[in-house]
Amino acid sequence: MSDKKFEDLHFPDAPRIVVKPPGPNSRDMCQRQDILESAAVSYPKAVPIAFEEGRGATLKDVDGNVYIDFFAGAGVLNVGHCNPEVVEAAKQQMEKLTHCLDFPTPVRMKLTEEILALLPEKLRNNAKIFFVAPTGSDAVETAIKLAKFNTRRIGMISFEGGYHGMTAGALTLTANKEFKKKFMPMIPEVHFVPYAYCYRCIFGKEYPDCDFECAKYLEHVLEDPDSGVVEPAAIILEAVQGEGGSIPAPDKFIREIRRIASEHSIPLIDDEIQAGMCRTGKMWACEHSGVTPDIMTISKGVGGGLPLSVVVLDKRLDTWEKGAHVGTFRGHVVAMAAAVATLRFIKKHKLWDHVAKLGREVFLPRLEELKGESKYIGDVRGKGMMIGVEFVKDKESKKPWPEIVREVQKACYEKGLITEVGGHYQNVIRFLPPLVLTKELAETGIDIFAEAAKGVEATK
Ligand code: PLP
Repeated sequence: MSDKKFEDLHFPDAPRIVVKPPGPNSRDMCQRQDILESAAVSYPKAVPIAFEEGRGATLKDVDGNVYIDFFAGAGVLNVGHCNPEVVEAAKQQMEKLTHCLDFPTPVRMKLTEEILALLPEKLRNNAKIFFVAPTGSDAVETAIKLAKFNTRRIGMISFEGGYHGMTAGALTLTANKEFKKKFMPMIPEVHFVPYAYCYRCIFGKEYPDCDFECAKYLEHVLEDPDSGVVEPAAIILEAVQGEGGSIPAPDKFIREIRRIASEHSIPLIDDEIQAGMCRTGKMWACEHSGVTPDIMTISKGVGGGLPLSVVVLDKRLDTWEKGAHVGTFRGHVVAMAAAVATLRFIKKHKLWDHVAKLGREVFLPRLEELKGESKYIGDVRGKGMMIGVEFVKDKESKKPWPEIVREVQKACYEKGLITEVGGHYQNVIRFLPPLVLTKELAETGIDIFAEAAKGVEATK
């Protein structure tokens, strides 16, 4: 494993638990946060820890505990917390120029070139870059608006289990029904079609003998005049679903969606906000299937920890006029400098190879083994370092078991491992560590997870 070069990026003593988490300082800060901040604050409700420092794939809390981080700030810290090359680039930029609207700057020009050079080949030669406001949701809003403007259509198609953000359009494209019930659809005519979630195939089929009924369903709704779904402005897809439970769709499914979109002249938006930036063992998740999208949304990992988001669009969609989508923070100069350093770091280390290898040779085999030993782990899946472990009440019925997952997550952080929970039923433990994770940290983290899962299982 060629991860010697990443060894010095982390706290050397991770994991190290000096006081049972949450320690007194964490408890105090979480309590004060509860009083002072909106009730909408989310992550500390599940992992009640206050953090002070991050290095590589490790985190230190305010009580001095050191954790292995299998969460990476929801898939942001791909090149690690406080990557020295990123920090240096951001510091230097900070002293030169921090904000400049969308005027050209040397760093903006460099970043545009770096992103273009890393795009899938067919897109690279036909793409334009649009820096949008800092979050992933902003990129999704931009993609929706662009598709609607180009097609003069109203509706959108998204996938069951899809997650695209929390602003009006992005939220409406997000499949989770709790949000829908509470906040109502905010844009009209959004329809959801099945994703290739093979563990729970709604057509009762088994991959690979399934003939991709799920993709055919999309074809059906587009072609049946009585399906209730008018031709949409775009189809939005995650090539590997993130919040839906780290679900890697088979490549052929992605290719089928591309084919159907093309045959119906519907732009395909590939949401790479979570699965992009090497997360799945290729620079972009769509590269596994060889599919070229019309629009790509990028955020999370691109800024190396600083907020930045980008829309890549096929040149022929660049039909809107000057000022059609202006904004004050359309590409923050310091985040752009961090992004140039991030992309160079990724290229220099061919990070995709490291990610693919750790996923294939360490995570998946070890977790498969654990599944064999467990009564409650129904499915293990993933690509690269975007991994899901789905817990069920029993393997026959596959009845989801979200409660056990919260117990396992707690047992993990108490032993020094930070994880994420997701999935349709919130019954999936998700691993999305910084991609500079070493083999040793990966193995230690998986050992902690195994011990936590077995410990919780023993109480059932
Ligand atoms: N799209 C995908 C695939 C995501 O995973 C996320 C966030 O998790 C978003 C969009 C929204 O990004 P943000 O939280 O930065 O608004």
